[in-house]
Amino acid sequence: MPTSSATSAREILTGLHDVMASKLGAQAKLNKVVKIIAEAMASEVCSIYLLRDGVLELFATVGLNQAAVHVTKLAMGEGLVGTIAKDVAVLNLAEAASHPEFAYRPETGEELYHSFAGVPIIRKERAIGVLAVQHADPRGYDEVEIEALQTVAMVLSELIANAGLADRAIAAGEERDAGTTRIVGLKLVAGMGKGHAVYHQPRVLIEHTVADDIEAERHRVYSAFAKMREQIDAMMGQAEFGTVGEHQEVLETYKMFAYDEGWSRRINEAIDIGLTAEAAIERVRQRTAQRMRQIDDPLLQDRMHDLDDLANRLLRIVSGQLGTAAQAGLPQDAVLIARNLGPAELLEYDRRKLKGVILEEGSLTAHVVIVARAMGVPMIGRVANLRRLVSEGDLVLVDGTEATAFARPTPAIEEAFDTKLAAGQKRRAEYAAVKDQPSVTRDGVRVQLMVNAGLRDDVAALSATGAEGIGLFRTEFQFLVSAQLPKREAQQRLYRSVLDAAGDRPVIFRTVDIGGDKSLPYLDTNPENEENPAMGWRALRLALDRDTLMKAQARALIEAAAGRELQIMFPMVSEPWEFEAARAIVEEQKAWLGARKKALPKRIRYGCMLEVPSLAEMLDVLLPRLDFLSVGTNDLTQFLFAADRSNPRLAERYDWLSPAILRFLRRIAKAAEKANVPLGVCGEMGGRTLEAMALVGIGIRRLSITPAGVGPVKAMIRSLDAAAAARVMERLLKNPPADFRGALAAWAEKHQVAMA
Ligand code: PEP
Ligand code: MG
Repeated sequence: MPTSSATSAREILTGLHDVMASKLGAQAKLNKVVKIIAEAMASEVCSIYLLRDGVLELFATVGLNQAAVHVTKLAMGEGLVGTIAKDVAVLNLAEAASHPEFAYRPETGEELYHSFAGVPIIRKERAIGVLAVQHADPRGYDEVEIEALQTVAMVLSELIANAGLADRAIAAGEERDAGTTRIVGLKLVAGMGKGHAVYHQPRVLIEHTVADDIEAERHRVYSAFAKMREQIDAMMGQAEFGTVGEHQEVLETYKMFAYDEGWSRRINEAIDIGLTAEAAIERVRQRTAQRMRQIDDPLLQDRMHDLDDLANRLLRIVSGQLGTAAQAGLPQDAVLIARNLGPAELLEYDRRKLKGVILEEGSLTAHVVIVARAMGVPMIGRVANLRRLVSEGDLVLVDGTEATAFARPTPAIEEAFDTKLAAGQKRRAEYAAVKDQPSVTRDGVRVQLMVNAGLRDDVAALSATGAEGIGLFRTEFQFLVSAQLPKREAQQRLYRSVLDAAGDRPVIFRTVDIGGDKSLPYLDTNPENEENPAMGWRALRLALDRDTLMKAQARALIEAAAGRELQIMFPMVSEPWEFEAARAIVEEQKAWLGARKKALPKRIRYGCMLEVPSLAEMLDVLLPRLDFLSVGTNDLTQFLFAADRSNPRLAERYDWLSPAILRFLRRIAKAAEKANVPLGVCGEMGGRTLEAMALVGIGIRRLSITPAGVGPVKAMIRSLDAAAAARVMERLLKNPPADFRGALAAWAEKHQVAMA
């Protein structure tokens, strides 16, 4: 056995380089390959098994009986070879026959050999074959030998794919072998969709594994590292991570890996053996993954995830495949697979082609989820190991409502899904039938139903759902989708077209709420490098300090609403003076335009969002100054519970149906009623039937919700007795049961309130 794995691996790679470049047929190439490996590793046996029609077939060997070639076949999971392929893991045995999975095949003559080492040949993270060596003496193989085999297996994977060996049968076997996977996560956006998996950050398929020029490869990796470090530093420097969907903690780990000398050294060592830059990066990634898997530590698994992402980034840089799937353009009907996304990143996708999104992270009130809801795209989050469960191109069925998805479904599963999809369409048709019915409870209480919007297309939801108006128009969406700060004229055009489309129905424009998890590529919303931007310089705080932005928007709104009523509200007001200051800016613009004889709105109604708890203490001061008040439960909850709304770890920790939130909201509702100021709730909470029922029960009479929620919530309202709901809420809030949600759901069921 050669003393160094690098020597033997290099020897083999040089030999393989020639074989791959030769004009030999596929079978002849494989025959040569096993010979080269056996010689370099001084092993008596070297065999290659390839997956064909779902079974592993002996394709080439030295040392075993030649008669066994194309005869010996093992199912996935059968024997040592089948076990390696199934687990996509190495086996290293001093005594092969003593392994519980050992399956003796007399035609091979392998009883002569005691020791056995086998590694999977991997393509797109699945085994498409196995490379094995055997020795007559009972000896374990050392780590460097296994390493050499794995490096060679990687090159083999390329040879198999390129030399015509990865014929359709193998590719089909690969697909079949993977089988159906059921994915369960957290429900982020309800709805169903079906499409083919697209990775937001596409995986790089390595085309060439053996280098022609080692120096050139070294250089490529060197520049890729430099570029990657630059990117990570820029992301850290941005300090406001919403747009890129990554959190500080993740970025810090990225940075640690990006600057890790050990990582770049190992890649360089792999290049020295003769691998291309891409293959070397991948090889080191696989090796590290294998090591980390052996240590059963969840924290380490998380880190592995980060390293995986970073290795993929490095691969994309080195191979020049930089863009996200949005830039490459989606195929028809896609299901997007990502670790996490920022709202602006999601908005880059064509909503007509996007049938679903599955995230490894994600939390209910993160803005990306709100955007997905606005786009009408079902979304599931919190799926661990997602990218191991779903490969690019897999057919995926997404059931956001049930928070489950199926990758590579069987025809029976697909059929059941289609039936349910059709039933959902029927239910939507039923909701459409109540679309023109009034939103009134059984005992005659009117609950005004409006929709949240932010994109130009959203106004279509008004007539589609029969909503009474737009209760929250998130003007920052236009800022998020633009490559540069939208000009006043562009803003004005959008607002006018929204007002035109809404006709007589009211529209409440909220001035820009940027910062927090809504950052802009062209405006530094976090110059101080805040650690907690959600509680930082965002929304009105930023707008009051940078009032040019606010003035331009105020003018755009006033001009757009000329001759009509204009309703404006301000986000993240924490103290009454901020409302006054914002109002003064708008009034000043109105006066300025008036002085120039421009047409003005008939009337401007000013409102305020209540999403910072401090404001609830100041309602006696604030309410008399307002035309209306709107509670943003997304932010309010995060501040009440001190739980970051975009932190996936906290996604399921607190419930909207908790007595703390409901008591808080009831207090606001009572104060607003007393002051005779119209009050609405415009957070995501109101779009869910059970939550909406609770809100009606504590006296909320206006909900602005996601368009998809209008049908179900209206059906709920029409089946509800508001007085009875008020009584049950009073009772439950007085003596809160441990399972508040459960108690409320049981009450709804008993009283036949329509729940979706
Ligand atoms: C809220 O905070 O509840 C809200 C409606 O505003 P946004 O989700 O845009 O922060
Ligand atoms: Mg908010």
